[in-house]
Amino acid sequence: LRNLVIVLGDQLDPDASAFDDFDPAQDAVWMAEVAEESTHVWSSKPRTAVFLAAMRHFAEDQRDAGHTLHYAELDARGNSGTFAGQLAADLEKLKPEALVMTEPGEWRVREALQQTADAAGIPLDIRIDRHFFSTIAEFAEHAEGRATLRMEYFYREMRKRHGILMTGRGQPVGGEWNYDADNRKAFPKQGPGLVPPRATFPPDEITREVIALVETEFAEHPGSLDTFAWPVTRAQALEALDLFIDERLPGFGDAQDAMWPGEPWLWHAHLSSSMNLKLLHPREVVAAAEEAYRSQRAPLAAVEGFIRQILGWREYVRGIYWTQMPGYIQRNAFEAFEPLPDWYWTGDTPMACLRDAIGTTLENGYAHHIQRLMVTGLYAMLLGVDPREVHAWYLAVYVDAVEWAELPNTLGMSQYADGGLMGSKPYAATGKYIDRMSPYCKTCPFDPAKRIGEDACPFTTLYWDYLIRHEAPLAENHRMALQVKNLGRLDDDEITAIRARADSIRHGDVTDSRPSSRW
Ligand code: FAD
Ligand code: SF4
Repeated sequence: LRNLVIVLGDQLDPDASAFDDFDPAQDAVWMAEVAEESTHVWSSKPRTAVFLAAMRHFAEDQRDAGHTLHYAELDARGNSGTFAGQLAADLEKLKPEALVMTEPGEWRVREALQQTADAAGIPLDIRIDRHFFSTIAEFAEHAEGRATLRMEYFYREMRKRHGILMTGRGQPVGGEWNYDADNRKAFPKQGPGLVPPRATFPPDEITREVIALVETEFAEHPGSLDTFAWPVTRAQALEALDLFIDERLPGFGDAQDAMWPGEPWLWHAHLSSSMNLKLLHPREVVAAAEEAYRSQRAPLAAVEGFIRQILGWREYVRGIYWTQMPGYIQRNAFEAFEPLPDWYWTGDTPMACLRDAIGTTLENGYAHHIQRLMVTGLYAMLLGVDPREVHAWYLAVYVDAVEWAELPNTLGMSQYADGGLMGSKPYAATGKYIDRMSPYCKTCPFDPAKRIGEDACPFTTLYWDYLIRHEAPLAENHRMALQVKNLGRLDDDEITAIRARADSIRHGDVTDSRPSSRW
């Protein structure tokens, strides 16, 4: 055996660099389902099922292509349960001359595989991941010498370098780089109107087998598989992309930040898991969106807003991850050490916004960006939860959760635990933000305008408590100046009352059980 090509569960692209010189006559493919990937932090049932189902479909394609495949099934006898253990055992048997792989998406996995290869004395050739628009070296170059990093500047560089939404004269199409001023509206009172149906893919035989396996092996894990309908093949992912471009992209900008109870999908793309598993290439997603604008099928504000998420945010968070790891995962700028409330794993809280955001998360393995950032993320930050616990939750629950994308979004963007490396200020807000963007507060026992009192919204109480607790570092941030200045309007009695109520929220007195007579 010449090369053994390692393919991880989020590397399901037959055109990846690991396959560049693949010779079926002398090379083989290696894939392994290992329990460690679902247990080192908890992985929800939908997330595990998406990964395993997509892997098994990819494996079938490899066999059909006539490639020799060494595939360890999760419940196969002798499965060692870890990548390192499984690979070490197979290296003994197969004795390849070399190991080849595309850059993995997680520091821990990269280390484990490198150590295993070194221990076996077999060279490991780790190749650049062409899936992304930028390489890690390019991002490092962009970051060099900058005290702070900002997505917007990186995004503009990317637009220019890749000629996306640019005029022939090197200017942004329409004259602006960013059309967010036209995006991000709340829905009118009567609701979002007719939301187009999302692409759904009822489980085939392979996926049904995986679902049964996950229900058996990970019975205690959170989440449900009852409505599982995610794309798990490239053909399905392409179909989902087409449907998004035709039906949702035109409404994407307006609805980007809005929330509505019982409407988890709205005008979002639901393509993150397909891209992260590498079933879809971001270049084809971005090209399809740009083409929809150029052929006047979608407005510029929506298309620019969508492309910015992929060409900007997605590439930016990956750059942060790989240039900041391994230390990044330990960062805790505001020394937050509270435990994550247990109800994050059940949705069992009277707070209407959190109950809905967590409910859809557990049912579908999905919640859209604003639910993640401004509901579940915001609450954890204001409460003062240990960022590592928040990280473990986000890595567990979403079908698109891969560490390179999840960690900077969680620790940096949503918790501000990197102290401002990734974002210029914490996304701190009261319940009034949620009230503006959704009708949740109308069915909630709490009042978003109140910071103290029996029915004060926990977000609002905790927001003021957060400002009080972190006044000194926040005052140094000029983008927080106005918010911190407002603290001056509170008298001592009010500060004492806010702190007392925040303490009882932290003890679970308010949010774990039915809190008031309004129930
Ligand atoms: P859309 O809203 O339709 O956006 C289109 C695409 O843009 C997405 O598919 C995604 O690929 C990309 N994108 C948008 N925002 C981001 C972002 N901030 N970072 C990276 N890519 C982005 N995304 C993940 O892919 N994996 C994660 O593990 C993940 N964890 C997150 C954790 C937190 C706390 C937060 C606030 C965000 C996280 N995101 C993560 C980013 C974002 O919320 C999801 O990519 C998005 O909600 C996926 O749904 P969609 O495909 O419908 O996205
Ligand atoms: Fe959420 Fe507060 Fe509004 Fe209730 S009142 S839905 S807890 S923001």
